[in-house]
Amino acid sequence: MALWTDLATWRGPTVNSGDGDRNPNEASDRMVEHRGIVLHIAEGYFDGTIAWQKNPTARVSSHFVIAKDGRIAQMVDTDIRSWAQRSGNPTWLSVENEGFVPGGLTAQQIEANARLLVRAHQIYDIPLQIATSPSGRGLGHHSMGAESGVNWGHPQCPGHAIIAQKPEIVSRAQELCGSGSGSGSEPAPVPVPERRRPRWIIEP
Ligand SMILES: [Zn+2]
Repeated sequence: MALWTDLATWRGPTVNSGDGDRNPNEASDRMVEHRGIVLHIAEGYFDGTIAWQKNPTARVSSHFVIAKDGRIAQMVDTDIRSWAQRSGNPTWLSVENEGFVPGGLTAQQIEANARLLVRAHQIYDIPLQIATSPSGRGLGHHSMGAESGVNWGHPQCPGHAIIAQKPEIVSRAQELCGSGSGSGSEPAPVPVPERRRPRWIIEP
């Protein structure tokens, strides 16, 4: 089991996961690899999204759901496929963010996404970088499938505002890992004051 209970509250299980035959622990239920995390916008509220993902008729799920206040729910074991981006399900983790297009993420959601990315980096060696297509690795977004001509569904998810926030999530994740690079990480050099000439030296 890969439940990240120190980061997220377990709100699963849901039948909308794995290979869909409701026989757990088969190889066909499991992730093939972990290329990265895909950002989604829930088009809904936190508890409503969780309830919907547990409804068998919905036939959707995500590994995580993040509330606007930063609470994280886990719906699917990270070793098991969620149902969030069709042909990308066996290879990408998924996060639904409470909110509606064209809204952006709150500061708390950015922080929560960064923490999930850090954990994915630590466990699955997912690089702390931006992914822009299903063949990439790192922090992706749902519509990068459609943008690359791949059947991932929902070309409007998560919307431009959230896509524009991906660099912020990645740099926060780098900061949390202590591997940040750029202006924020290096302290500015302290100017060395010119040594004052001691007063007792007599000029020639
Ligand atoms: Zn989506």
